[in-house]
Formats: sequence, C-alpha cells, structure tokens
Amino acid sequence: MSTTNTNAIRPLRTRELYAPSHFGNTYEATLPGEMTGLLAEAKFWGFNRFCDWFDTIDLYNVYEKRHNLFNMPEAMWARKFANFECAAAQGLGLGLVVTPNHVFSGQVTPATEARKEPNMFGQLVCPSRPGVTEMILENYRRLFGDFAARGLRLESLSGGAYDYGGCACEQCRPWIVAFGKLFKQVAELGREFFGPMEVELWGWWWTDDDHRAFSEWADAQAPGFFQAMAYHLPYGVTDYAVRPIPAGCAEKRPLSISRTARRAVAMRTVTTAPTSRRCVSKKRFDTCLRAGPRDSWPTRKEIMTI
Ligand SMILES: [Zn+2]
Repeated sequence: MSTTNTNAIRPLRTRELYAPSHFGNTYEATLPGEMTGLLAEAKFWGFNRFCDWFDTIDLYNVYEKRHNLFNMPEAMWARKFANFECAAAQGLGLGLVVTPNHVFSGQVTPATEARKEPNMFGQLVCPSRPGVTEMILENYRRLFGDFAARGLRLESLSGGAYDYGGCACEQCRPWIVAFGKLFKQVAELGREFFGPMEVELWGWWWTDDDHRAFSEWADAQAPGFFQAMAYHLPYGVTDYAVRPIPAGCAEKRPLSISRTARRAVAMRTVTTAPTSRRCVSKKRFDTCLRAGPRDSWPTRKEIMTI
C-alpha cells in the first residue's frame, strides 16, 4: 500500500483537535501564553477546529449562582472559555462536545435520576421523567447564551451517548434512540443561537446494536440530521470496524497521535494534538490528514510512529 501518492487524495475539510481541559489533560494546566503556542502548533500541523466538553462532575449549577462566586465550577467555566477564546483568536473553528443527560450535581434528585447499568455513569438524569428534558434544554440554553455573549460562535456540536450518559429505564429503551431524540433537541436549540451548526456523533462505547438501532431511527425520523460519526476506537485497538451509520452521515476518521506508539493506541476516537512537535516530516503528517479511498490511508505503523 502506497502512502506517498497524494495525487489521489484530498485534504480533509475538517481537522478537529479535541482538547479537554479537565481530567488532568495538558490543556487544563496551560497558561494563556502556552495555550496560544500549543494551538499555533496545532494550526501549523493542519488542524482547523478546536473543541472541548464542559464536564459537570461535582459541579453545582454555575448559572443558578450567577457567577457571583469563584469556586471550582466557576474556575472550570473560566478555564474552558479562556481556551475557546484562545482558539477563536487563532482563527480556529469552534466545536462543542455534549453528553446531554449528564447535568449539574444538584440536578440529580430522586425525582430526576436515571436508572443506571454498568456502562452508564456520571451525574445522569432520565429524560423521560417529567420536566427533565426541559431542565436539560435550559442548561444548554444558558451555556449557548454564554458562548454567544462572549462573541464565540460554535460551528459544530458533537453528541456522546455514554461516558457520561445513559438511562436504562423502560421509557428510555433503547437508550441510543432516547439519546438521539434528546441530542437532536439540543442541536436544534444550538442552531437558534449559532445558525447552521454541523451536528456530529461520537460513537464512544456504542455497540453494534446501538449502531443498528440509531441508524434505523435516524433514517426514519431524522433523515440527514446527523452529519458525521466518529467511530469508537477501543483501548488496545488501533483500527476500527465499520458499522452502520445513518444515510448521508460522513465517517469521521479517528487519528491518534502521541509521543510513543505504545501510548497512541490508548487515545480517544477523535483527532488529538501532536505532542511530539516537528520531529517528523510535515508531509507525512499531512498524508494522515487527507481523505481518500480507504486503501490510500497511511498504514497503521505510519500513524503510530508520528
Ligand atoms: Zn429513563
């Protein structure tokens, strides 16, 4: 398989950097100047979209408190928005990852809590319970309003059904369809704020049954709504199996880049930051960021050695 013939391949339109500024990731600790340098580096390597996810684990509702305090929730919000503002200043597009039924800590009560199975964790509420979908949409209305008030326009919204997410109650079965209905409402709300956002899916922890059930529902009830799917790349696996996705939904290719091949296999399903800087040729890296027939993609070995 040749990876040097670039005549037959085209640059990917979207090359997204998922940069979560929590869980001890680098982006959580970067000072503003460091983040500027990091994103300039990512831009050099060809990335054109920055995205992050507002994890609310252990956080109270910052909007109820009206930002009058500066505790952990406000600090988290400040960190997230500082990085989004830094990305916008670099000219990168902005994307937001959402896990729709994961909410602020105080919003999980006996009247709202989701029914959990082992693969469902986080601060989860059941969207089938009275008032819960409205509460979730109000959370996103406030978050989207926060972006808009800061002059930050989101160009994409990516939905995750698990980690954190899920409800195993009878009314929410199959969860993947309940997630789809909920995420669709969040995305429609986002479009009220930002216009024609791209709506994408993260297949993190999706099963084969999830792919089949979601695709059947989406093709029947929301044709064309979901525009891209990032497949799940499990830990210890370096390529993914092609699974059913909605008609017209683009395949979002995962690319894991890390300092060592050993670490590369454990990275998440979306394009991540180069951490080894310019120690390999940019031409080879560009090859990884181009789309073409599957047999024109770089070999597994080449991806892993970048
Ligand atoms: Zn439920």
